[in-house]
Amino acid sequence: MDILIKNGTVVNSDVSFKADVAVHRGKIFSVGVDDAESASKVIDASGCLVFPGGIDPHVHMQLPTPAGPSSDNFLTGSRAALMGGTTTLFDFVTPAPGELLPAALALRQTEAQSALTNVFLHVSPTTWRTTMPDEMSECVEKFHTRSFKCYLAYLDTIGLMPDVLEKVMKEAARLGASVLVHCEEGKEVARLREKYAKSDLPVATAHYRSRPPEFEARAVDTAIQLARKTGCTLYIVHVSAAESLELIAKAQAAGQKIYAETCPQYLLLDEQKYHQPFGQAAPYIISPPLRKAEHQQALWEAVANGTIQTIGSDHCPFTLKQKMEGKDDLRKIPNGAGGVEHRLALLYTYGVLTGKISLNRFVELTSTNAARIFGLYPDKGVIAPGADADIVVWNPEKPGIISHRTHHQHCDSNIYEGMQTTGAADYVVLGGKMVVGSGR
Ligand SMILES: [Zn+2]
Repeated sequence: MDILIKNGTVVNSDVSFKADVAVHRGKIFSVGVDDAESASKVIDASGCLVFPGGIDPHVHMQLPTPAGPSSDNFLTGSRAALMGGTTTLFDFVTPAPGELLPAALALRQTEAQSALTNVFLHVSPTTWRTTMPDEMSECVEKFHTRSFKCYLAYLDTIGLMPDVLEKVMKEAARLGASVLVHCEEGKEVARLREKYAKSDLPVATAHYRSRPPEFEARAVDTAIQLARKTGCTLYIVHVSAAESLELIAKAQAAGQKIYAETCPQYLLLDEQKYHQPFGQAAPYIISPPLRKAEHQQALWEAVANGTIQTIGSDHCPFTLKQKMEGKDDLRKIPNGAGGVEHRLALLYTYGVLTGKISLNRFVELTSTNAARIFGLYPDKGVIAPGADADIVVWNPEKPGIISHRTHHQHCDSNIYEGMQTTGAADYVVLGGKMVVGSGR
């Protein structure tokens, strides 16, 4: 054996039990009671939880924007992910104007080679042209793409009008792929942005007011209807509003194949962050924006009852200097914040330890469901013989305080600054190799 993880409690999405986990040639060899003498490395996991490596379904490393790329590249961002117990990332392919999808995908795969984690890519059709069905087919057949991502917001750059989204969904359904949708009504957001850009509202407040929850909910409704019409599997990213959840739950109850994701920032932070001087408010300028606190309860309920299947980080940090580009104009501020490193610790601390969700549900939300939805299960998302050896040994008592001074994300701010956490990854095994040891 290469590695033997002894005396821990294995936690899968359905069951927890005491067992030793043996790793050999990149795979989990056995889960049970084993002989330590035959392993070249032994990890003592006494008192620790042993669960499948985190899968973050939603990150943006080195995302090109007019204010420069998001500040984590694939190397620094993936290193931060590993420190937080995440071994697999799903990033995005956003083609340049006129660039064909397969060419953009090939280029992005090259960029992602510097990542220390596994990386998979969702592909974004950002326009429609006659060759799009062939381009999408090529992505699926040649590159094994299983998911496309469309934006109903950002109409001036990468966003799609609903009639174009319908065409993409129709092709995706034909190819057996799912479609992820960023749900905010693009036209309405643009109208309010123009209006507030001319007003004397502070930039952060203007950002918040230009993207109200009803714009999200109405776009969710549109996406659900188009998915029903085309027979397409729909995955709604970063759900932030209570109104959206009602629509999603109703469609799920009617038997439609719809998955929903939320992010720690929408569960734990609220719009009060915007009512501060620009320098302090800027890191929180993300889309959708943080909501009023009452949305958090609805989101937690949806996380607990299964309306929401996954927790993504939507990791997309920008430095304060990059954010300052928009200090006088909300249209110029790059939207996004980092969190890939903290996703597990935050959900563990504020979800599991508060009794909102069980440990098994925690694993399901941070790993298993993303593996199932995006075609990686049972290679990933479970501790079982034959699965890939992507494993976290979680110290459930280790205290932490989140700060930009100590985090591994490449950014000079942190939206969770000062928040306390309990629980951290002591060891992380990736593809059978130990990549984090003793928390380092
Ligand atoms: Zn995103």
